[in-house]
Amino acid sequence: MLNQLTIAELSSKLNSGTVSSREAAQACLDQIERVDGRLNAFISHDPADLLAQADAADRFRQEQGGNQGRPLLGIPIAVKDVIAVRGHPLNCGSKILGSYVSPYDATVIEKLRSAGALLFGRVNMDEFAMGSSTENSAFGVSRNPWDLDRTPGGSSGGSAVAVAADECLAGLGSDTGGSVRQPAAFCGCVGLKPSYGRVSRYGLVAYASSLDQIGPLTKSVRDAALMLEVISGADSKDSTCVPREVPKFTEGLNGSIRGMRLGVPREYMVGGLDPQVADAVRAALSELEKQGAEITEISLPHTEYAVATYYIVATAEASANLARFDGIRYGLRVDGADPAELYSRTRGAGFGTEVKRRVILGTYVLSSGYYDAYYLRAQKVRTLIRKDFAEAFERVDAIVTPTTPTAAFRIGEKSDDPLQMYLSDIYTLSCNLAGICGVSVPCGFTTNPRLPIGLQLLGKPFGEETLLRIANAYEQATGWHAAKPELS
Ligand code: GLN
Repeated sequence: MLNQLTIAELSSKLNSGTVSSREAAQACLDQIERVDGRLNAFISHDPADLLAQADAADRFRQEQGGNQGRPLLGIPIAVKDVIAVRGHPLNCGSKILGSYVSPYDATVIEKLRSAGALLFGRVNMDEFAMGSSTENSAFGVSRNPWDLDRTPGGSSGGSAVAVAADECLAGLGSDTGGSVRQPAAFCGCVGLKPSYGRVSRYGLVAYASSLDQIGPLTKSVRDAALMLEVISGADSKDSTCVPREVPKFTEGLNGSIRGMRLGVPREYMVGGLDPQVADAVRAALSELEKQGAEITEISLPHTEYAVATYYIVATAEASANLARFDGIRYGLRVDGADPAELYSRTRGAGFGTEVKRRVILGTYVLSSGYYDAYYLRAQKVRTLIRKDFAEAFERVDAIVTPTTPTAAFRIGEKSDDPLQMYLSDIYTLSCNLAGICGVSVPCGFTTNPRLPIGLQLLGKPFGEETLLRIANAYEQATGWHAAKPELS
C-alpha cells in the first residue's frame, strides 16, 4: 500500500516510474475514507485538489524526465491547522476564526511547494496549540490509532494520527513545549523540534513567540531529516530565523555514533515515570552503548521549575498574541453596544475554556504588581534552565530522556485537571525554554495495553545533524518505527 511507505520509499518508486503520485494520493484518500471517521485526524480535506496536485506532479516528472532536484515531488503531506496555506481555511482548532481563509502561504509551505510536496488537509489540534491531548479542539477530539479510547497527545495530535494511521506520508506540526514530540511518542512516529531560529515562523499563528517552532512528524528519522532540510533556512519575513547554512541532514545520517557522549539527566529518571517507560529507555541506552556511545549521568538541576516557568512564559506571550482575535479584524464577530462589549462577547463565544484560562493567567502574570513576582522571575529561571543545558553540552554530545512520563492516557482522564495535564509535559518543555533541538523516536511498547513509547534525544542549538545521526542509528538497529497500529 503506497500510503504506508516512508517518503524515501515512495520517492524511489516514483523516481523509477513504477507508481504515480496520483496512485499514492488516492491511497491516502482511501485510507482517510476507511479510518478517519473513527480517528478524526482531519478537520477538512479536499480530495479533488489533492488529486489535481498529484496529476501536476506526475506531469512535471514526465515532462522533465525526473524530479529535477525536488526531493518531495508528488509526496502527500498533511498540515496542522495553525499554518497558513493560501486559499485554505485556517482555524487553529478554534471557533474564533470563523470562516477565515488564509490569503498567503507560510514560508514552510512555500518551501515545501518548491520541493514538490502535495499539501493537503487541515489536521486537528488543541485550540491555538494549547494542550497535550487534542481534546481542546472546536472540531472534536482526535483518537489514538493504537487505542481509540486514548488521546493521541497534543497539540499536534491530528498530524501524529494522520502519519501513524498512514493517511498521509508525513505531517507538519508546531512545538511550543512538546507539541510535535509528545504526540509522536504517543502515536509511534518520529517528531522533530528544530532549534529555535532554524525554521521560519512566518505564517505560523503565534502561540508563544519565543518558544514556537514548526517541525515534521514522519515515519522514519530519514524522512524527518529530509523534511528539515527542506523547511529550514533564513527568512527575511522572520527576523528570529537565523541566517546560517542549512546542512544536508540526510547525508550525515549513516555515520557511526562510536565515541559519542550521551548524557542521562539524573532528575528525569525519577518519581512519576512509568516503570515500563523507564525500562524501554534503559534498553535504548544499552543499544546505544552497544553501538559505541558512552553513557554518562548528568544533572539539569533546575528541571523541577520547568513546568512552572513554561506555563508563566507561554501564557504571558499567548495573552499578548491572542489579543488580535477581537472580532474586528477577522473571523467571528458577536455584536455589542460598544467596542468593549463586542470584544468581550466575541472572545467569550469564540475561545474555548483552556484558551480563556491561559489568556487570564497570562494577563495576570504580566499585570503591574505581579509582573516582578511571576513573569520577571520566570524569565530568570528560564536563563538558569538554559545554562543547565549549556553546561551539560560541554560534557556530552546529546541528552537522552523519555519523551513523556507515561504512554498515551485515556480521553477524559486529565481534561478536568489542568495541572495534571501540564505536569505530563515535564520532559519536553525545557527544550523550548532553552531553544535547543529535540527529537522523539519510537523505542518500544507498553504491554496491556500495547501502546507506543517515545525516546527523546536533545541536542545543542543547531546540533540537529548529530541528533539525527544518533536517532537514525538507534532506529536502524531496532526497527520500532516500522510497527503499525491494527485498524481493522
Ligand atoms: N502542552 C503544552 C501546552 O499546552 C505544549 C503545547 C505546544 O507545544 N504547543 O502549552
